Amino acid sequence: MKLLEGKSVAEKIKKRFEEKLNNLEVKPHIAVLGISGDEASQVYINRIRKNCEKYGIEITLKMASSEKEFIKNFGEVKKDNSITGVMFQQPLPQRLFELINELPPEKDIEGVGINNMGKLFIGKNDAIIPCTSKAVIETIDFYGIDLTGKKVVVVGRSNIVGKPLIPQLLKKDATVTVCHSKTKDLQKETLQADVVIMAIGKAKFLKKEFIKEGTILIDVGINFEDGKIVGDIDFEDVKDKASMCTPVPGGIGTVTNMLLLENMIK
Ligand code: NAP
Repeated sequence: MKLLEGKSVAEKIKKRFEEKLNNLEVKPHIAVLGISGDEASQVYINRIRKNCEKYGIEITLKMASSEKEFIKNFGEVKKDNSITGVMFQQPLPQRLFELINELPPEKDIEGVGINNMGKLFIGKNDAIIPCTSKAVIETIDFYGIDLTGKKVVVVGRSNIVGKPLIPQLLKKDATVTVCHSKTKDLQKETLQADVVIMAIGKAKFLKKEFIKEGTILIDVGINFEDGKIVGDIDFEDVKDKASMCTPVPGGIGTVTNMLLLENMIK
């Protein structure tokens, strides 16, 4: 089985990113807004901060202790013209999350607002695309995988992975099926797939019984099991049956980090 490592994909994006960064007239200044208390999101924020510092991207963190304070912080960020991009740190209640739509779409650096999502679905080039979903496409492109006429099954329908993958996969002429927790017979769907993209957040969920010989597997999942990071795919179990697979860690996550930086300067 061929390992679709993220490192080389990220290296390619890094070169593209550094070139664009050097040509910028206005230095990016990113605001990250959230509600404090979630340990996993703190780890994620620290990683973003480190990356931003490395590239001289200014970052302002505003972690609120209540919803009221979040709304106040958002009001300040909205008025501040020096801020070029805004990220909302999950988990957030839906009504707070929807405040992103009050910003100009170019400041929605995660591409999760109505405007960017709409542009993505109708194929506009200036859409800011949710970076995890884009990481899947960049990986597929980097390894020269042609999706024309292929049956691609995406498992997971979130706004940051499953849904934004639909237009991007259709653009590559794939036949796309999206499955979720209410799908009646998931195994029946994945067994027909040439490519399976897993994004459900369930450790080692996908086993060899779910795939046909030679399937290409993309693992978006990040789960913690016995202190280790594992994906949604049981890698050891599928490795003799799949033809290609992204590792976890070192796969889609590595590419996503670089694409988030790229979205910051877009
Ligand atoms: P999410 O919002 O929790 O969505 C999970 C999706 O999986 C939902 O659509 C859910 O269905 C579906 N699902 C859950 N259990 C299922 C099952 N047993 N069978 C079929 N479908 C099932 O998750 P997310 O934010 O998209 O993240 C998914 C995974 O990707 C997580 O592990 C997350 O940590 C990881 N992630 C990785 C990166 C990266 O950079 N690699 C970035 C973001 C997220 P319903 O809609 O029916 O509930």
